[in-house]
Amino acid sequence: MYLLYRLRELGLHVRVFEAGTGVGGTWYWNRYPGARFDSESYSYGYSFSQELLDEWDWTEHFASQPEIERYLNYVADKFDLRPDIRFSSRVDSAAYDEDNHCWTVVLGDGSRHRSRFMITALGPLSAPTMPRFEGVQDFEGQSFHTGLWPKQSIDFEGKRVAVIGTGASGIQAIQEVAKAAGHLTVFQRRPNWCTPLHNRRIEKEEMDRIRAGYPELFQRCRETAACFVHTVDPRGTFEVTDEERNAFWEELYAGPGFGIWQGNFRDMLVDREANRLISDFVADKIRERVNDPRIAEMLIPKDHGFGTRRVPQETHYYEVYNQPNVKLVSMLEAPVERITASGLETSEADYEFDIIIYATGFDAVTGSFDRIDITGVDGRKLKESWRSGPTTFVGVMVDGFPNMFMVMGPHAALGNNPRSIEYNVEWVRDLIGYMTGRELTVADARPEAVAQWNDFVRQKAEGLLSNEIDSWMTGVNMNVAGKQTRRLVRYSGTAPEYRERCDEIAAEGYRELSFT
Ligand code: NAP
Repeated sequence: MYLLYRLRELGLHVRVFEAGTGVGGTWYWNRYPGARFDSESYSYGYSFSQELLDEWDWTEHFASQPEIERYLNYVADKFDLRPDIRFSSRVDSAAYDEDNHCWTVVLGDGSRHRSRFMITALGPLSAPTMPRFEGVQDFEGQSFHTGLWPKQSIDFEGKRVAVIGTGASGIQAIQEVAKAAGHLTVFQRRPNWCTPLHNRRIEKEEMDRIRAGYPELFQRCRETAACFVHTVDPRGTFEVTDEERNAFWEELYAGPGFGIWQGNFRDMLVDREANRLISDFVADKIRERVNDPRIAEMLIPKDHGFGTRRVPQETHYYEVYNQPNVKLVSMLEAPVERITASGLETSEADYEFDIIIYATGFDAVTGSFDRIDITGVDGRKLKESWRSGPTTFVGVMVDGFPNMFMVMGPHAALGNNPRSIEYNVEWVRDLIGYMTGRELTVADARPEAVAQWNDFVRQKAEGLLSNEIDSWMTGVNMNVAGKQTRRLVRYSGTAPEYRERCDEIAAEGYRELSFT
């Protein structure tokens, strides 16, 4: 949406293809119960329009999906974006035409669209994946994937419900579904470390104060490592006394959002001993909150330390397991063997359900690209080029795919994503403006520049404990063929470093690109 807004300013004719029937992307598809921001609402909205900042009031520090979707619709209407968006339009393929220097995009309905530039805004978490269980189609009750949730409301009242998967989506759904379900069974493979969100309402006076502080807030997000309001504490875990350390962690645990993950001691994610200490601290919190010690132990991760996978944010999640209508099943002890017409079978028991919720995640980062047949010069396929991991130039370009630009592509800065989206969009806008201003038709990344960027990405990943762990952030998805081993899909340096590099490239006239 922001890209459309900025490209229109250049006087370009822009057409956006969108698979959904409405705007919102992630916040359109992920409408499962409990879906909400894990970033502070006001740090996650667009920053580019003072009018928009003046007009929009957030009602919660961490807004829920319906409010976020309303916001994105408000943005679409305010800037009159819809006339240039073609909804219900899934892209099947895109091929570069070397003779005419343009892209041909083919939609699901067979229609063909030609353009000088093709820009992807596919999102790193937008290709939902189902577990490869036998019998998924046989289930006669209702079943849903969190990332493809239907628009109609689902009635859980008194129903027997299963949730499979305990990542950020599963955790948000579980704590909400547990309120209404007659009985909820949670099927957990590897537990995650979850910490309290501490959400609250924002009253009018508080929103006015937040609004008055927007310039400082966005400036802070520009300076922090991952564009959140929280950032690494400069102290090392062992540079403070035991009492100071504990007091700091208590404060973080009682504080809102990602503070405990993003605002912790600087060595937490690189020093094994430091990581063990914070893991012990959070494990004790779980033990305090779950009545049954056996269940508490099942919920405490044993295979990875705190923060080395994405930390789901929760509201009374652990207390859900104290409710009489909730049961936790470990799929490590009793794997699901098949889905049946009436429920599912594990190696130990048969279960009957009215509703099964698959919170089984996404073919992350490259999955949404793999689902489109993208062909560059000499018939080169993007999917093949990226088989053992993506290679990009600053996460925006791929050599051999001229005039294809990516917003939030692999190896761009992740974190509080809208901040990175705005930066990526402006960088692409400036590059296209540079080209049109000089009558340059085609831009391609030089292979040596791609190699250099990949070396930089590799160097930034060194020594990080998170890169030793299987998760979507390391390119692993056990449900997708060829994605069982870790790949370097993510840039793990800081956002300010990323932007510094990209700014330099632009200031020096894009020497890393070849133009014709
Ligand atoms: P996820 O973190 O990848 O979690 C998927 C879950 O499903 C894991 O618990 C996984 O277990 C389990 N699973 C997958 N396949 C399975 C199988 N075949 N058998 C048993 N268990 C299986 O996906 P997600 O929860 O959708 O979250 C993905 C990302 O989306 C998050 O990390 C976050 O970045 C983003 N997100 C953001 C928000 C927010 O900001 N508010 C909310 C939701 C999601 P294993 O761990 O054992 O593989």
